[in-house]
Amino acid sequence: MSTAENQISNPIFPKGDSAPAEYFTGKAWVKPLVPNDTTFNCVIGNVVFEAGARNNWHTHPGGQILIVTDGIGYYQEKGKSIRLLNKGDVVTIQPDVEHWHGASPDSEFTHIAINPNTQEGVVVWLDRVTDEEYYSLNK
Ligand code: MN
Repeated sequence: MSTAENQISNPIFPKGDSAPAEYFTGKAWVKPLVPNDTTFNCVIGNVVFEAGARNNWHTHPGGQILIVTDGIGYYQEKGKSIRLLNKGDVVTIQPDVEHWHGASPDSEFTHIAINPNTQEGVVVWLDRVTDEEYYSLNK
């Protein structure tokens, strides 16, 4: 087992299926936890990113809440600096705010993603996060 794998010693959820490569740079896995329906209008999934992996810039028409459960990750909103994320951090993302999230360069990273108000739409995918953007922390 590699060092990166050892950082997740006792994962809460299985890794699930590979995230779509067109919307992610590097490897990530998505495990659906709660499916969408017209009672809750909410999708919940567990997402694992390998070190260095991140999703594209995107927005959520209904907003999003991230709950960090393991590893060290990054979160950035357009026009702001990267925010470092650790286990136990919670990120609330307002509707239609352009952002991305993912692992830091040296650590696997896991969060639960809660997407409420799905009647407004779940996600709008945008451009990839460039290496220049990804490595902008502490510059
Ligand atoms: Mn998001």
